[in-house]
Amino acid sequence: MSSKKGFFYTITALHPEVTGSCLLVTVHYPDGNTMMFIVDCGLFQEKPYTQLNNQVLPFTSSKIQFALITHNHADHNGRLPILMKEGFKGKIYTTATTKRHMQFSLLDDYKIMLMNAKEKKQNPWYSETDIRNALECTECCNLEETVYVNKNVKVTFLDNGHLLGSASIFVQISCYGEEDLNILFTGDYKPTSIWKEVRKIPEWIRELPKTVVTESTYGYMESSEVECHFEKDIPKILGEGKSITCFVFAQGRAQEVLYLLKKMQERGEISTKIPIYLDGNLAQINTKMYQNSEEIDEEKRDFLPENFTYVNKENRQNVISDSRQKILLTTSGMADHGPACIYVPEFVARKDMVFYFTGYVSKDSFADKIKNPQEGKIKIKGITYEVNVDVYSTSEFSSHAKADEIISMLREAGNVQLILINHGQKESQQIFAQKIIDASFVKKVEILSEHTALVGKFGLIKIMGSKLYCIKMPKEENATTKNEGRIPVRRKSFKNYLVCRHR
Ligand SMILES: [Zn+2]
Ligand SMILES: [Zn+2]
Repeated sequence: MSSKKGFFYTITALHPEVTGSCLLVTVHYPDGNTMMFIVDCGLFQEKPYTQLNNQVLPFTSSKIQFALITHNHADHNGRLPILMKEGFKGKIYTTATTKRHMQFSLLDDYKIMLMNAKEKKQNPWYSETDIRNALECTECCNLEETVYVNKNVKVTFLDNGHLLGSASIFVQISCYGEEDLNILFTGDYKPTSIWKEVRKIPEWIRELPKTVVTESTYGYMESSEVECHFEKDIPKILGEGKSITCFVFAQGRAQEVLYLLKKMQERGEISTKIPIYLDGNLAQINTKMYQNSEEIDEEKRDFLPENFTYVNKENRQNVISDSRQKILLTTSGMADHGPACIYVPEFVARKDMVFYFTGYVSKDSFADKIKNPQEGKIKIKGITYEVNVDVYSTSEFSSHAKADEIISMLREAGNVQLILINHGQKESQQIFAQKIIDASFVKKVEILSEHTALVGKFGLIKIMGSKLYCIKMPKEENATTKNEGRIPVRRKSFKNYLVCRHR
């Protein structure tokens, strides 16, 4: 019971930057009753936060009425099994596509968690039963269909191009005799997708007064600054007679790269005689699901290039020992998990091989060590290898909107009383907040990270320090070398770059 009177809610970001995404909303009713729900429940995938994964969630799970999941990335749904283990009894709402992919992804995360726990001599953080329980209580919502999750709360999942199945979520909270409190959670957001036309926010939602909780991963950057060079690089590298090992995420990136390779074949830019391979169990499952997905435009579902083969433990050795030119796609995107761990030691010393990272290479990651080897060498499991491969990377596949694209969506959202910024590196959040203020279309902008906002029918009541979550930031670092996708360093106190990482 709350001592405060009135109808309002508090919202807290339980993640400081971009990883371990989880928002806690507590609705306060005039009779003193409260109701809590969460939006996303993600794993921490970046140092120095990973040690937080096996800690208890910073709320009483049994008191959470329901959970909304925006999309199937581990840093948004990877701690659902922990939520179950801790006694959550409500329902989880997401799209059918997210649920379909999530059943495989959560099992994949489980295997990685078991491996990590074994290495660190820890007990597993959760069991397969917790995964099953999470899936059993997951309800599927159709896009733009309003669902009552309880007598006072309606949710509407909205289209989003971030990932197949991803959604922004509109929540309407009502109370007898009071005006509704409306919140639009953008989730990780992108206005476009190569797979389909992304639908705009419906008119009826635009008209309603609302608070928008927006991501800000690339809030520091304009879409005009993105450099696209992948489709030029691939024919050029192949023209030099080299093979390519392309590191991809299991959902989204693997399928997008296959689609682009097929287009390059069709345009005659790369020869269909060069075989294309895909290794990684989860990537293969997802690829088959994409081929059958009704969410994808029909003519695009046939996206496998010619001369394409799946690789598994039966034919992997042949792929490695065959010295002919090839394009090999493998998980993980950062080369630190999955079959990439087999290919890197095999290929890293070869002069006729190129390593191509299709995701952002974060500082001090394994990928960064390959990209910037010390004295031309890298140590893997105690063995030193010469790094002779050329290393390429690109951030052009990023599935996040840039500042101008989010601002244009925020304008379209209409009747916005308050914008709360979260899910971005600290400096990105600040730069993005300033960009929104400069665009002057909304009355109030606040940075949510590490704060709790108290919001009523006229928008923000106050913003205060969060009692729920207090994480010590990593040690301050001086300027790092310029890298694609990295926020330009503007002051010395700028912290380690953390980015939303995908499976
Ligand atoms: Zn994401
Ligand atoms: Zn994210």
